[in-house]
Amino acid sequence: MTDTVTALFLDGVWTKGGAPGFTTLNPATEEPLAEIAAADEADVDRAVQAATRALKGEWAATPPSRKGLLLTRLADLVEQEADGLARLESLDMGAPAGIAQGMFVPNLVASLRYYAGWADKITGEFVPTDGYFGAPTHSYTRREPVGVIAAIVPWNSPLMILGWKLAPALAAGNTVIVKPAEDASLSILRFAELTERAGFPPGVIQVLTGRGSVTGEALARHPGVHKVSFTGSTGVGRRILRNSADTFKRTTLELGGKSPQLVFADADVNAAVAGLAAGIFTNQGQVCAAGTRILVQRPVLDAVLDGLRDAAAAQVLGDPFDPATTMGPLINGAQRERVLGYVHKGRAEGAALVAGGDSAHGPGFFVAPTVFSGTNDLAIAREEIFGPVGTVIPFDDEAEAIATANDSDYGLAATVWTRDVGRAHTVSAALEAGAVGVNGWSPLAPQLPWGGLKASGVGRELGYEGILANTEAKTVTIVL
Ligand code: NAD
Repeated sequence: MTDTVTALFLDGVWTKGGAPGFTTLNPATEEPLAEIAAADEADVDRAVQAATRALKGEWAATPPSRKGLLLTRLADLVEQEADGLARLESLDMGAPAGIAQGMFVPNLVASLRYYAGWADKITGEFVPTDGYFGAPTHSYTRREPVGVIAAIVPWNSPLMILGWKLAPALAAGNTVIVKPAEDASLSILRFAELTERAGFPPGVIQVLTGRGSVTGEALARHPGVHKVSFTGSTGVGRRILRNSADTFKRTTLELGGKSPQLVFADADVNAAVAGLAAGIFTNQGQVCAAGTRILVQRPVLDAVLDGLRDAAAAQVLGDPFDPATTMGPLINGAQRERVLGYVHKGRAEGAALVAGGDSAHGPGFFVAPTVFSGTNDLAIAREEIFGPVGTVIPFDDEAEAIATANDSDYGLAATVWTRDVGRAHTVSAALEAGAVGVNGWSPLAPQLPWGGLKASGVGRELGYEGILANTEAKTVTIVL
């Protein structure tokens, strides 16, 4: 068990939840890890009231440069406490320690610093018009906060995804109620302690742990919540959209994916294989942008299959805190069963197994790195698995590659492996995806907008798009 405070952080006070709490497990050992408090509808209501008070009161009165300073202070504190935060995240959700230390926590710091810079640079614009019944006018826009925002976060990289929602929302003057995922609340609770130390006024950042079906539902339905910023599964995203409809909430939905990786015969195949393997196995495949459909031009098909077989064999599954480990456990037993169900389905549908295919032994929710060779119509190529399972699909020419890549319900990310610069641009333009990386992954940088098409989501986070998504434009016209 950890010594982390596991209460609700509500209106600046650590408080017990009204709903029955629950126990979370260490996914690497299956042993109990923490008792998590759970917010009920009344807790959600109190949090919304506190967020509204802060929105209209102390936070509204906080000058923009001071908002930026608070975000910078928070970034400094996260940096100082980075090792502990990363450790807690690995313990809670099973990512190899190096990923939490080298990616998740630094990404949170980068988001906080990037949006700290934005806080006093959010401007409207002067807009020329034809005037008003012959009188000249002065028209301009203001970008105002959306209001109280519910940030609903998944378990696969909680701190990183929290940063994408929280940092732009605060820079733009909103107040935020965070709802962590049931299976991974600990690093966000520790982060909440840091927001207190940074000096944010009460009610500006609150953390309500609890169940999606209770706490999440209550947030998405509450009339005092102006926007839901959600990252998670497509099914829950759909439900949140429905629940938001009654009160016309703004929504940003970052949902699932079935991202293609296109390898052309002119590519540097060794570099491509390393990138493909990272796309399938990183964080045990529990990555929204995981590159799980590997489309390969026939002349290099055998080389890619051999390379992926070797890459799977080279993975080291085990204790997330062992520096040799490249893959930790999946988040929980249900997820392991779900992933193994897809492995079984792949075999039953006639896909050829190239590597893996079994769960690893031991306590802990481990699944072996798995690669199939098959076609784009199989369930393993169409449905999001959210585990370390990829399907290699051959193609003959560029047109077929693009058509196959776009033949998906999802449209989050894609990679293209080619040395032909013309092809790099034309294929990137033709792909139905929110982000395309050529000869590498599109970096998850706070400067770059992130989000998906089709069932992968609605709206964008990060970059200037993140500011637009967290503000409302108001038009003011003065008749002169
Ligand atoms: P999930 O949808 O089950 O849960 C996500 C969050 O929503 C959790 O905090 C959960 O408690 C909450 N929730 C559940 N039911 C709710 C409801 N009815 N109302 C409101 N909130 C509710 O997803 P998950 O299993 O935690 O995460 C995995 C999914 O997230 C995958 O599909 C993955 O692709 C997606 N994801 C997407 C991105 C992206 O940027 N597009 C990033 C990471 C993960």
